[in-house]
Amino acid sequence: MRLATPLQAVKGVGEKTAEQFAAANLHTVGDLLYFLPRKHEDFSEVTAICDISPGKRTIRARCEAVTTQRVRRGMTVTTATLVDETGKLQAVWFNQAYRATQLKDPKQEYFFSGEFEFNYNRHQLTNPSAEKVSDLPVQTDRLLPVYPSVKGLKSQLVRKILAELRPLMTMLPETLPERIIRSQKLVSINQALLGMHFPQDPDDIREARHRLAFDELFQLLLAAQLNKQANARLDSWHIPFEQAIVQQFVAKLPFELTPAQKQAAWDILQDFQSQTPMNRLLQGDVGAGKTVVAGLAARQASSHGFQSAFLAPTEILAAQHAESLNTLLAPFGVRTALLTGSVKGKARDALLQSVKHGDVDILVGTHALLQPTVQFHKLGFVVIDEQHRFGVEQRQTLLEKSEHMPHMLAMTATPIPRSLALTLYGELDVSIIKQKPKNRKPIQTKIWAPTSRKALYAAIDQQLAEGRQAYIICKLIDNNPLNDTKSVELEFRNIKNSVFGHRRIGLLHGRMKSAEKELVMREFAEGALDILVSTTVVEVGVDVPNATVMLIEDADQYGLSQLHQLRGRVGRSEHQSYCYLLTSDTKKPSQRLREVEKSQDGFYLAEVDLKLRGPGEIYGRAQHGELNLQIASLADAELIVKASKAAQDFIASGDSLLQYKELARQVEHYQRVTTLN
Ligand code: ADP
Ligand code: MG
Repeated sequence: MRLATPLQAVKGVGEKTAEQFAAANLHTVGDLLYFLPRKHEDFSEVTAICDISPGKRTIRARCEAVTTQRVRRGMTVTTATLVDETGKLQAVWFNQAYRATQLKDPKQEYFFSGEFEFNYNRHQLTNPSAEKVSDLPVQTDRLLPVYPSVKGLKSQLVRKILAELRPLMTMLPETLPERIIRSQKLVSINQALLGMHFPQDPDDIREARHRLAFDELFQLLLAAQLNKQANARLDSWHIPFEQAIVQQFVAKLPFELTPAQKQAAWDILQDFQSQTPMNRLLQGDVGAGKTVVAGLAARQASSHGFQSAFLAPTEILAAQHAESLNTLLAPFGVRTALLTGSVKGKARDALLQSVKHGDVDILVGTHALLQPTVQFHKLGFVVIDEQHRFGVEQRQTLLEKSEHMPHMLAMTATPIPRSLALTLYGELDVSIIKQKPKNRKPIQTKIWAPTSRKALYAAIDQQLAEGRQAYIICKLIDNNPLNDTKSVELEFRNIKNSVFGHRRIGLLHGRMKSAEKELVMREFAEGALDILVSTTVVEVGVDVPNATVMLIEDADQYGLSQLHQLRGRVGRSEHQSYCYLLTSDTKKPSQRLREVEKSQDGFYLAEVDLKLRGPGEIYGRAQHGELNLQIASLADAELIVKASKAAQDFIASGDSLLQYKELARQVEHYQRVTTLN
């Protein structure tokens, strides 16, 4: 029997059982061995009947009498009297008539494990598992593994078949090099699987979890390293660095680049010169000034006849990018164009023609860029803004629009803690813009209770009176009668008809037509609106420097990183900016929310988010799900760093993956789901 053996070859697995397993995506012996329990229930202590109290209990007893009654159609109740030396108790099973046969020998001793509870007016053991004491217990009298019930798969069945496979768990080939096991003080893979499926005590489970978590992270990080190596072997365009071009560009800017911006630009221009494709993540807090860095790189590319593609997640953002790039680069004769879903008909055909003929240097757009009809003349540089909003395949589609692998810059305003970046983007080089441009003042952030709404509106009006603009952010689009969360439509109407009757107010949300959205955004950007009531569609990238106040309704319902990103819409000029976090109720604000009040450091807030709410909050996208980590937590920074180092050592040591079949199989899976090329 081997890991690849189909489950149907295992004793006790007939056609029907095999089907049940297959439905849960378990096909081979290996699949089942690595199908890990989600928790363990402690049935390991045997309780004397005279000492029993409500809870999950195991007793060791004989069955004095057992009867089955049909209470109504399709429902049987089997009742047994169980005895040990200390007393008697009643056990009851529903629809398990076979128990009567199983327990009919009064001399036989059994373990019974189940819930002792007060039910139907009496204390009883309800639906306990029962096994002969003379057999090795599988369903009773132990730390009982509870498996994920995928498609109704029963833990009992999983335990039964795993018991058949138990001998195999002492002779599996090791999946990690001995060296790593020793240096990381890990238990063997055999011990780990036994520890998960057949633990003797809680220490077994702890050690097993640690080993298996390490394996998952090691595999994931090794996959990333291998992808990185594979990427380095690909051919890309050579885009030479030209000082004169860069100097010209910088000289025309209305501001001075920060040292971090210069460093990031330098990293990119260096990568451009090499024949291997750039795979770089540019991380920078909102407002850190990433666009201008990407613009500089695109300028360098265009000077050598290379086209650039800018992919943005929303139309608003794409439009804004196109506009800022055009402002930055038109003076140098660089031609920027915008392609979104709303560019249609003749205009679209004409645009696609110019892109194909190389008459457009920078094509900015939304998902529309990914369509097969979009063809480039010579695509050298791909920028993916807010990259976590795109899946692996989408990035791939864009990169494939070039005969050579283009250079790729992924940008994100979500600060990603280092440990998380290692696991999610292990194969990317990273540039970070930590400082903000000099003229920025910290955004004054304050939590307000809903009772202080009046004062809050007054504070906003004060800013408007000084010529500034404001955002009001609500979670919902229209009101849901089932909850009190504020909607943009309601808020819009409310303030229009009362406090802000004298102000110009705009409404923005994701269900509006894109032309409408664009119009509103434009009006707001041009100062034709004082207040923009919006959902989180303004979250990413939107840049209106004159907006200095943001009110976030129901602030406690957002993740910290998201609040921080929203807040980044203000504080984009030399004016003092304010962010007001309005809580949904008058209860004391949570510690979490207080962190946003205290800190302006996106990386710090991301760390807090990671600890308190897990990685999903920071990284809500598909890739995270595809990683399919059963045990390891992406929040376990310490283990991630260890596993990352071990993966690097593995590669450096020249060890061949071929020696470790199971490892190779897993690594290949991770390579597939994380690859960027
Ligand atoms: P983000 O990193 O959020 O994408 P942007 O690139 O949109 O930030 O930049 C935010 C604003 O800051 C823009 O208006 C941009 O022109 C301006 N900006 C960028 N770099 C600097 C700088 N070094 N000094 C002053 N303002 C800058
Ligand atoms: Mg941006």
